[in-house]
Amino acid sequence: MTKKPLTLINKKNIRVDGRKLDELRPIKIELNIIGNANGSAYIEQGKNKILAAVYGPKEVHPRHLALPDRALLRCQYHMSPFSVKERKRPAPSRRETEISKVIRECLSPSIFGEYYPRTSIDIYIEVLEADGGTRCSGIIAASLALADAGIPLRDLVAACAAGKVEEHLVLDLNGPEDNKGTDMPIALMPTFNAVTLLQMNGILTTDEFEQALNLAVKGCEQVYTLQKEALKARYINVKEEVEEE
Ligand code: ADP
Repeated sequence: MTKKPLTLINKKNIRVDGRKLDELRPIKIELNIIGNANGSAYIEQGKNKILAAVYGPKEVHPRHLALPDRALLRCQYHMSPFSVKERKRPAPSRRETEISKVIRECLSPSIFGEYYPRTSIDIYIEVLEADGGTRCSGIIAASLALADAGIPLRDLVAACAAGKVEEHLVLDLNGPEDNKGTDMPIALMPTFNAVTLLQMNGILTTDEFEQALNLAVKGCEQVYTLQKEALKARYINVKEEVEEE
């Protein structure tokens, strides 16, 4: 007897994790959880668990890397050995190097780097558990960690992927969907309607691309609302702590 192939979307358009096609995974965000960093954020998005920490603006080491007119922005995205089913080698892979670069480039336009010449701002993103779309979850947390560090920002950067799985356009792909389908992560500064990252892993027609882009922008707008709520919650905590003193 031949086995029926596993489908990721059922006849009622419900996905393996119970979501509708245009639904985000549940997101939980917390700020200021790493005491030793200047700013930090933790995000859970579905099964993704990711920490972001920011140091700076501070003196640049090595000093010759300092830029005369703006801050030097550095970013390190890393997946911990226990973040995936089989132990991942701890040394940075080509994939992590690429993701570090695109995250740095997508956050850079949001930062008033010109306020801090000859300094560095270092962003660390540590994936504790991965289940698809970790660059987007990492961007969401890193942008909030920058805000938590008190670094002036033009806007928060929200991120979300859309893509195609089994002939359906879907929002916020999880691990199995990411593996099987086409994934298009984007990052957005919603106030300016400015896309700061757009990648695609797979193939879409022009029409599908437009629809997926609109879907991902809508996802980013929902993420942005959650980011602002998390930031407000952080300052309500600060206010309460000050009043208690
Ligand atoms: P993103 O996490 O941004 O979607 P990719 O599309 O490269 O980036 O990866 C998709 C998913 O594949 C990851 O979220 C993770 O769940 C899984 N993955 C990535 N690298 C590894 C690895 N070395 N071992 C096992 N799974 C991995």
